[in-house]
Amino acid sequence: MVTDEIQGSGDARVGAGGAAYAGGRAPARATVDLDAIRHNVEVLGQHAGSAAVMAVVKADGYGHGLVPSARAAVSGGASWLGVAQLSEALALRDSDIHVPVMSWLHVPGADFAAAIAGDIDLSVSALWSLAEVADAARTLGRTARIHLKVDTGLGRNGAFGEDWPVLLHAARSLEAEGAVRIVGVWSHFIFADEPAHPTVQSQQERFAQAVRDAERAGCDLEVRHIANSAATLTNPGAAFDMVRPGLAVYGLSPVPSLGDPTYFRLRPAMTLSADLAVTKRVPAGQGLSYGHQYVTSEDTTVGLVPMGYADGIPRNATNVGPLSVAGARHTVSGRVCMDQFVVDLGPRSGSRAGDQVTLFGAGDSGEPTAQDWAQATGTISYEIITRIGARVPRVYLGGQQ
Ligand SMILES: *Cc1c(COP(=O)(O)O)cnc(C)c1O
Repeated sequence: MVTDEIQGSGDARVGAGGAAYAGGRAPARATVDLDAIRHNVEVLGQHAGSAAVMAVVKADGYGHGLVPSARAAVSGGASWLGVAQLSEALALRDSDIHVPVMSWLHVPGADFAAAIAGDIDLSVSALWSLAEVADAARTLGRTARIHLKVDTGLGRNGAFGEDWPVLLHAARSLEAEGAVRIVGVWSHFIFADEPAHPTVQSQQERFAQAVRDAERAGCDLEVRHIANSAATLTNPGAAFDMVRPGLAVYGLSPVPSLGDPTYFRLRPAMTLSADLAVTKRVPAGQGLSYGHQYVTSEDTTVGLVPMGYADGIPRNATNVGPLSVAGARHTVSGRVCMDQFVVDLGPRSGSRAGDQVTLFGAGDSGEPTAQDWAQATGTISYEIITRIGARVPRVYLGGQQ
């Protein structure tokens, strides 16, 4: 929930469960530009053409905050929202968000009755979930809206091979009975981030075949969907009736080998920053942090950054994570600890406690980006933004709340 709490100046509002940071100024913060999210969804909508945009807001809106991200995405033209887990879908409904919401990753015993009562569309990948969803619908005297998932080669979720026609025909029987309505058929790419990979075309063909199977079986589908961010931006032929972007909603490039966010006309929404807790002079030859993995090469000033692996800073950012302090680039100096790490600011630094350190942002002012962090630590930008800890308050700029 976004509150009217003001932190600092301007129109920034603190999210993180609706409370302002309890201890006064927070040591670190993730500032989220809701206007950037709205802009990104508008751009994705232009790529989608006549297809609808389902903004994926799972994993707390990729770390940006579920509800504020969802509202910003809807203001940018998203007519659907997608989440992995039912709790996320129900949280959207609890926040008075009424656009169609689809949830896709469930285990036996999930509260499908709550989902159906909340008008949540459900993905069905297997006979067990079809049976549980239908039971819940019968008990409620309602019809569950389902999207049948076909595994077109990813080898992850979805009905594979001969399981597909079995699932389809079982679902059709329950549709005839009124327990379910099959509103969608959907799938997911293996290599959308390598647009020329031959599996892209073969999966698209298999998907089109699965759609034909469903239509031949008598389904009256509302939506067919397979495209994530990468496919939405690079493969117009994969849009079908709806695209399902996540990463690009938050302004990061899903195909860094092809281009950065600017290339795709996206604006990174999150800036991760902290205030220096301490600065001090140390001599040449001084080791910094646990294990002394970094040793100063000259008399210098070091700064203490109050974020650690508990806040989502990868421990393997030790000696490689990029930072910006007072407009200059620096690097994590020594081991990343649970709550803090140290940075060698150089012999001529005038930085003092309270000065701001930017870990990543849009890059417009020369600061590192989430993609830079991903590259430095051997991962993808998805992981960098979604792993920011719950202890870091999200501060919102823009939007219409
Ligand atoms: C996360 C997810 C998406 C969004 O993927 P991006 O690469 O972030 O655009 C789309 N569909 C499914 C099934 C997902 O799990």
